[in-house]
Amino acid sequence: MNLIVCLKQTFDTEEKVNIENGKVSEDGAKFIINPYDEYALEEAIRLKERFGGEVTAVTIGTDQAESALRTALAMGADKAVLVNDERLFGDEFTTSKVLAAVVKDKDYDLILSGYMSVDNGGGQSGLRLAEELDIPHVNAITKLEVQDNQVVVERDVEGDIEVIESNLPILITAQQGLNEPRYPSLPGIMKAKRKPIEELKAEDLAVDLDQIGSKTKIIDQVLPPKRQEGRILQGEINEQVNELVQLLQGEVNFNG
Ligand SMILES: Cc1cc2nc3c(=O)[nH]c(=O)nc-3n(C[C@H](O)[C@H](O)[C@H](O)COP(=O)(O)OP(=O)(O)OC[C@H]3O[C@@H](n4cnc5c(N)ncnc54)[C@H](O)[C@@H]3O)c2cc1C
Repeated sequence: MNLIVCLKQTFDTEEKVNIENGKVSEDGAKFIINPYDEYALEEAIRLKERFGGEVTAVTIGTDQAESALRTALAMGADKAVLVNDERLFGDEFTTSKVLAAVVKDKDYDLILSGYMSVDNGGGQSGLRLAEELDIPHVNAITKLEVQDNQVVVERDVEGDIEVIESNLPILITAQQGLNEPRYPSLPGIMKAKRKPIEELKAEDLAVDLDQIGSKTKIIDQVLPPKRQEGRILQGEINEQVNELVQLLQGEVNFNG
């Protein structure tokens, strides 16, 4: 079973994020594999371990993104492709066109991506890729079973579960809960250092650069407003209750 995982390197949103000139500053930022893409990768590796075949991780990014691919190889991916060409960096429209150009001639049964990236959060690239390839897709899945040429997937729909059956090939996007990604083992890390990473430029792909430019433009990026400090009421309990009632009345009046 041949599996392709679309994997994006993002800055770690759990760490402090700085904005400079309307853009997230990469100075001192810690870079990780987009967490939803880790679920996708883990699922692909489990399927390969069960059914055989190979896992190929594909990333569009700069030199720095090589470390995300090395981690993927250390976890158990067999091959890695890095599309490292500024002319191919763009919005979700561009990203899906480029990913499609990379995978369209590959032999695949299942393509896995994250359901969204934690940095830009577009939630579009995976689904757009499936449309480009003209294959079915299911978004934000939490369970996947493969039998012969069929997949049965589950997805959370606001507290309920939707069960969907489809044929291969298909693209699924991974949601939290799908699995618990493994840590790379030491032998895995050592082996990954020797595995080659295929690096591609625009000339290696059948893309018309005039046709794949971004359709959107990011005008500005801002951090959310600072949360106000909480206030602990002081005094006897009846004083606190009175003050709380007054505060709540103010809140109600304030909100109309
Ligand atoms: C190095 C770099 C430079 C960029 N420069 C520009 C620019 O100049 N102008 C501009 O408009 N946009 C640029 N972007 C792209 C933009 O910021 C978004 O990352 C892109 O449109 C994807 O959207 P998203 O992050 O919201 O992903 P989503 O649509 O939320 O991603 C969903 C899933 O798609 C897959 N995916 C997304 N991005 C990638 C990727 N890069 N490689 C492999 N799989 C991926 C992952 O599986 C991910 O979980 C750049 C991105 C990179 C990595």
